[in-house]
Amino acid sequence: IKYVYTWGAGKADGNGSQKALLGGKGANLAEMTLIQLPVPPGFTISTEVCTYFYANKRTYPECLQAQMDAGVKNMEKIMGAKFGGTTGMPLLVAVRSGARDSMPGMMDTVLNLGLNDQTVEALTKATNNERFAWDCYRRFIQMYGDVVLGVQKREGEDHEPFEVVIETFKHEVYHKDIVDSDLTADDQKELVKRFKALVKERTGKGFPNDVWDQLRGAAGAVFGSWMNDRAIVYRRKYNIPSEWGTAVNVQAMVYGNTGDDSGSGVAFTRNPANGVNEFYGEFLINAQGEDVVAGVRTPDPVVKLNNVMPKAYKELLKVRSTLEKHFKDVQDVEFTIQKGQLFMLQTRNGKRTAAAALKFSMDMVKEKLIDQETAILRNPADQLEQLLAPDFDLAEIKKAKALAVGLPAGPGAASGIIYLNADRAAAAAEKGETVLLVRNETSPEDLRGMIAAAGILTAKGGVSSHAALVARQMGKVCICGASAVLIDYDKKTVTISGQVFKEGKDYLSIDGTAGTIYGGQVKTGPSQIVLGMLKGDKVAAKTEKVQQFKTLMDWCSKATRLAVRTNADNPEQTEQAIAFGAQGIGLTRTEHMFFEGDRIDAVREMILAEDEQGRRAALAKILPYQREDFIGIFKALKGLPATIRLLDPPLHEFVPHDDKAQAELATKLGLTKEKVASRVNALHEFNPMLGHRGCRLGIAYPEITETQARAIFEAAAEVQKKGIKVKPEVMIPLVGFKKELDLQVAVVHRVAAEVQKEKKIKLSYQVGTMIEVPRGALTADEIAETAEFFSFGTNDLTQTALGISRDDMGNFLMPYTENEIFKKNPFATLDATGVGQLVKIAIEKGRATRPDIKLGICGEHGGDPDSVKFFHNVGLAYVSCSPYRVPVARLAAAQAAI
Ligand code: ADP
Ligand code: MG
Ligand code: MG
Repeated sequence: IKYVYTWGAGKADGNGSQKALLGGKGANLAEMTLIQLPVPPGFTISTEVCTYFYANKRTYPECLQAQMDAGVKNMEKIMGAKFGGTTGMPLLVAVRSGARDSMPGMMDTVLNLGLNDQTVEALTKATNNERFAWDCYRRFIQMYGDVVLGVQKREGEDHEPFEVVIETFKHEVYHKDIVDSDLTADDQKELVKRFKALVKERTGKGFPNDVWDQLRGAAGAVFGSWMNDRAIVYRRKYNIPSEWGTAVNVQAMVYGNTGDDSGSGVAFTRNPANGVNEFYGEFLINAQGEDVVAGVRTPDPVVKLNNVMPKAYKELLKVRSTLEKHFKDVQDVEFTIQKGQLFMLQTRNGKRTAAAALKFSMDMVKEKLIDQETAILRNPADQLEQLLAPDFDLAEIKKAKALAVGLPAGPGAASGIIYLNADRAAAAAEKGETVLLVRNETSPEDLRGMIAAAGILTAKGGVSSHAALVARQMGKVCICGASAVLIDYDKKTVTISGQVFKEGKDYLSIDGTAGTIYGGQVKTGPSQIVLGMLKGDKVAAKTEKVQQFKTLMDWCSKATRLAVRTNADNPEQTEQAIAFGAQGIGLTRTEHMFFEGDRIDAVREMILAEDEQGRRAALAKILPYQREDFIGIFKALKGLPATIRLLDPPLHEFVPHDDKAQAELATKLGLTKEKVASRVNALHEFNPMLGHRGCRLGIAYPEITETQARAIFEAAAEVQKKGIKVKPEVMIPLVGFKKELDLQVAVVHRVAAEVQKEKKIKLSYQVGTMIEVPRGALTADEIAETAEFFSFGTNDLTQTALGISRDDMGNFLMPYTENEIFKKNPFATLDATGVGQLVKIAIEKGRATRPDIKLGICGEHGGDPDSVKFFHNVGLAYVSCSPYRVPVARLAAAQAAI
């Protein structure tokens, strides 16, 4: 079996399409080699070795060593250098992890591998640069010691042990802080000696001198890191299956640290924060790559490279355009310049904010790089909501005090209580605080805190720093490299322009679009898109962003088969959803209207009534309210259909449970307090979710159904008389037996006939049911004899199919997710294998009886991209979701159809 794939000198075994086998980095290194870009040679050990490794007690396939030998030989030939060679130029390699996507938590890259006490002399001789050779050796021991041998900060230690050795040395010899590049060759030699002693002390073993031991050790550490805690946390957050495994890349070193004619950098072919078509990135002179990403030194913008190395810069610009033309997408590249010569070390599709994704996709269609359908696919549906997220309130921000600026790295507005440590930030967020994580720089260890924070602010590091990368991917508001922000970790304070802010107490606010930092809390307001599309703001409507958003949505409509409706309970929500392109209402929950104003009193009166007569009296008070509600909704819909669900929740949800409130209610209704208390007690249920609710209410109290139906039809009559079309679809909830539906439908039809006669008008309406208990799905053929439509209530269907209460799941969600029993929360993303089968059965049986039956879904899943895809595939007519999710669902529906 082939486990090792080489590339170099214009040839490669693999190519860019083999990301599953070679990992993202390896596949694209091969691809770049094939399109004749300057890539140092190397080889990839495939992900199959990772799979083998974990299936076989952390051992390797037997033939691997021979294949690696061949891979090293290939590099040696191309580079004219020998791995472990003590004469001539020795071959040094970088060992780089290679999951499909770069993943925080995976082993860091080890550079300069292949150095030992002998080869370092050879390197010195071959380059005639002793300082450089020993700088490499020193870096190598530090990186290898840290990531492979685990010489890291222990509990209670504040600083990395290698850093402590360096700092101690600098103060001993120079009595002050100096930068690493000022260290002499002799200094580096001394540090190598001390580093080795440190390794010995911490691990009990000497530093490996044999270069093949070094290489095998590093490769093993990469495979081992696939299962470390941080990697697991990350995979969970992004739903990356652990079966994927990682590859390992071994690549010949090129050197950015040979002097001032060398350097390293990272860049995006376009701006990944706002989407502008400009070369965007940064570089450091006389540095190896890790220095840029680590965010310790703040690098220079990449365009400045033109001043110092114009030839290499021109070359880089050429590569920029070659890459975009070849990959037809914005690329995120890593490069090194060795003595004026450019080498490409990595390319991948650049992570981007939702705003940038929108602009990239629209611009690239204009540039004829991609077509409309590709443009639709380029906008991640689950990120689209970012564009609707609030910005700072315009009036408030004018009053706020701008304290400093940093680099805008993640657009949007965030305001929160500051925390200087990721764990404390996460803990505070858990307690419900809105937190802002403020740090000098972030590292993968901070991931939990970054996830929990509303925004991230760092004092050091550039737009390619860890903080910026992660923020962009998570859609977090982020500012980095704000050097005016002075952090005191011990005192837990942040000082900006002389003003002191305390952790856990004071607020900072950050504008990640402009990079501005404000003291105190600043209110946020609607985004441009919301202003432009919902609030009729003419200025916002004309902006490029809003225009492009509309274009995207128009293209989605063309591509889509699945319609998108909204869940709305009032005219305002309805109008919003329609402005976002909803094609009707998929679910109106009538009970939501019960809580408005003082109508709850009438509802309670109905519930507490002793007999039908009493209930009818109370219902008569409710009728005009509901009618008004429906009139508003029908008007807002302007002829679009509305599915209206009759009363669903158990009655006890509407009555007060504490003594005082019960006493007040008793006085209002002229009852004794005991009477109220005893009726409330009687409504108590052990398992309300499976109790007296849904159509079971209407069957016990048909007058409730009657009143609701009357409100609907009277409203319909009134609106229709005004010349507005009305299409009510009356929906009976929680049906498991055809007989239940029959009884309720009879009431609805009777009332409809009455109203039509009274009002002398002809109404067109439908009556259907929710499919939300398994028996309903399994007997859908019978139910469809009566139901004119089905709407899948996937929340309840999930609860009843899984036998898991959504409201009680919190207690075991963690272990269920950790053990991968749930790959995703089944209440957020439809469990396609289980619950999905019930959906499919119901569709099949329903259609068998009534071929043209209308099918939709109104559960929470209607706004979830993965679930939308499922619903498209099983052939539903529409999904329904909350107004702000409508654009997300439209995008997901279009993507499913492409
Ligand atoms: P990550 O996935 O964390 O970006 P990489 O494997 O890309 O890790 O390595 C990080 C950095 O190390 C690169 O940006 C590059 O600057 C440097 N590097 C990697 N490979 C080489 C190489 N062959 N020669 C010189 N520098 C390298
Ligand atoms: Mg990289
Ligand atoms: Mg339900």
